Amino acid sequence: MTSHHHTPWNDFIKGMPKVELHLHLEGAFTFPTLHQLIQKYGGAPEIRTIQDLRHRFAYSDFPHFIETWKWKNQFFRAPEDFELSVYETLRDLHSQNVAYVEAFYSPWDFEGNGISMQSITHAVLRAKRKAHDDFGIQCALIADINRDFGPERGAERVDEVAGFRGQGVIGIGLGGSEHQYPAELFVEAFAKAKQFGLHRVAHAGEAAGAGSIWGAVRALEAERIGHGTRAIDDPMLIDELRTRRIPLEVCLTSNICTGVVRSLESHPVKDFLHAGLVVTINTDDPTMFGCTLTDEYIALFERVAASPELLRTVGANAIDSSFLDERGKRELHEQFDRYWKRAPHDAR
Ligand SMILES: [Zn+2]
Repeated sequence: MTSHHHTPWNDFIKGMPKVELHLHLEGAFTFPTLHQLIQKYGGAPEIRTIQDLRHRFAYSDFPHFIETWKWKNQFFRAPEDFELSVYETLRDLHSQNVAYVEAFYSPWDFEGNGISMQSITHAVLRAKRKAHDDFGIQCALIADINRDFGPERGAERVDEVAGFRGQGVIGIGLGGSEHQYPAELFVEAFAKAKQFGLHRVAHAGEAAGAGSIWGAVRALEAERIGHGTRAIDDPMLIDELRTRRIPLEVCLTSNICTGVVRSLESHPVKDFLHAGLVVTINTDDPTMFGCTLTDEYIALFERVAASPELLRTVGANAIDSSFLDERGKRELHEQFDRYWKRAPHDAR
């Protein structure tokens, strides 16, 4: 976890009201929560303290990362485990002044633990209501229908998601292997979701190239693109994204951790901003990648050398790119604009 010096701008960014649009709840648990669940289920070798647990999440390579992801999933076995974890995640987001989050969750990943999509969804919805009562944070859920299970299961999963419409599940996302399961396979699932009145987003241009983003935009009519990093390789695609104002859910630290880009400095986010794309900044799997939304904004500001104006634009983009209704957006914009009246004088 990076820690930043107290500078006027860093403190300002920490306090800035924020909207998070690309966060997977399964990658956003807190270490104290996971430690508690490990104890509940009889402990794990070598994990005595929370510090031991933090060390368990220092990966040697990508296979180790995947192994660690699966390892921690085994400690989520009962509805109350999900309820506790999501509540604590929302407490943490609130402490970063995240006012609203559209969070992915992948309830079908836990079928092997003997827990149904429905009972996980009910538990997560309880957590988000309780967090709203206690901290005022708003949360909506987007169910990730993993590409790897194929188009038929994808369409079936959309039916299951539709059962929770109006209760806080607002849409579907498309994750999983971009290379093996291109967007075009999921046309039916996305059309169905649209008929149900669900929002539709897709990861694209993270593992695969610009063609994968074209597929999400053209075949699926995705309302936002998760990552979209490889759009940089295709000027026509950049034009399309700008003209249609399709937001990109950019996740800087995630892209470095998974090797999509080599460094922050070589990330195309700066080009996207200068091309006038609707860029938003997000964390993807904050606990797994050791990042926070505050740190991501600070990195954008300090190391991508975004100006205060660009910082403000990116923050406001997240409000506009959300699936809140007009009134919800207006309220957040008012809060955001009020806060920006206190911005430091830029003396850098
Ligand atoms: Zn993601």
